[in-house]
Amino acid sequence: MSAPHFERVALIGIGLINSSLARVLRRDRLAGEIVACARRQETLDTATKLGLCDRTTVDPATAVAGADLVVLGTPLSAYAAIAQAIAGALKLGAIVTDVGSVKQAVIRDVKPHMPAGVHFVAGHPVAGTEHSGPASGFAELFHDRWCILTPVADTDPGALATVTALWQSAGMKVLTMDAEHHDLVLAITSHLPHLIAYTIVGTATDLEETLKSEVIKFSAGGFRDFTRIAASDPVMWRDVFLNNREAVLEMLQRFSEDLTALQRAIRWGEGQKLEDLFTRTRAIRRSIIEAKQA
Ligand code: NAP
Repeated sequence: MSAPHFERVALIGIGLINSSLARVLRRDRLAGEIVACARRQETLDTATKLGLCDRTTVDPATAVAGADLVVLGTPLSAYAAIAQAIAGALKLGAIVTDVGSVKQAVIRDVKPHMPAGVHFVAGHPVAGTEHSGPASGFAELFHDRWCILTPVADTDPGALATVTALWQSAGMKVLTMDAEHHDLVLAITSHLPHLIAYTIVGTATDLEETLKSEVIKFSAGGFRDFTRIAASDPVMWRDVFLNNREAVLEMLQRFSEDLTALQRAIRWGEGQKLEDLFTRTRAIRRSIIEAKQA
C-alpha cells in the first residue's frame, strides 16, 4: 500500500506514542502541517523545540479544526471529554483514530460523539517503552511491531485503509480484530504482566530496610527486569486496568489458580511438575525470538 499524505494532522497528546508518530510523519513527509495538543505548555514547548510540530495549542477543538487526520494519544481517562470537545470542530471527511491500549472502552467513549461524515477507526500500535513524554519518542519504536485496528460494523473502509497505510509507513504489521478479542489478548500479553511487575516491586518496597537494600544490590538476579516494567507511567496504567476490568480480572483469576498450583508443587516437593512447566515456558520464549518480537 502506498504511503498516505495528510494536509493537516492533529496529535491530541504528544507523549511517547504520538511523538514517535510525529517523528515518522516528519521523516517521511506524510503531513503538510502537524498540530500538537497537550494540557501543559511545558510539554508543548518541548515538542516545538524537538521540531515535532508546526503549531501547538492546549485546546483540543482548536487543534482539530481543519485537520484531515486526528490521532488521540492521551491516557484513556481523557478520551471521552476530548471526543466531546472536538466533536463540533471536526472537518467533514476527517479521520479520527487513536493509539489507546484498550479498545472496547475507547469505542464506548469516543464513537458516540463522532458527527456524521467523520470517520472513526480505533487502533492500538502494540509498541512501547516505560518512558513518557515527547522527548522519549523515536521513529523506530514501531518498526516490525504489530498494530491492531478494531473496526466496527459501520467503519468506513476507505478510512480503515488510510489508517492501515499510516501504520505500515511507520514499519508496522497491521491487522484487524474485534475490540473484545483485542482486550482479552492484551489482558494476558500486556496488562497482566504489568500488574505482576507492579505487585513484585510493591512487595519489595514494603520489606524492612535491610532487606530492601539487598534487593537493590542483587537486583540482577531477576528483580531488575520487573522494575523496568513497573516504572511505566502510573496514570496510563491506572486507566488501562480501570478500562479493561473484565478481561484483566478473568486473566488474573486464571493466573492466581496457576500460582496456587505452583505453590502446592513447591510445598509438596513435586519437582517434576515444576520442571515440566519451566520446560514448556522456555519454548514460548523461543517462539517469540523466532517471531522477531524479542
Ligand atoms: P505519555 O507519554 O504519558 O503522554 C501522554 C500525553 O497526553 C502527554 O502529552 C500529555 O500532556 C497528554 N495529555 C494528558 N491528558 C490530556 C488531556 N486531557 N488533553 C490533552 N492532552 C492530554 O503517554 P503515552 O505512553 O504516549 O500513551 C498514550 C496512549 O497510548 C495511552 O492511551 C496508552 O494506553 C497508549 N499506548 C501506550 C503505550 C506505551 O507503552 N506507553 C503503548 C501503546 C499504546 P501533558 O504533559 O500536558 O499532560
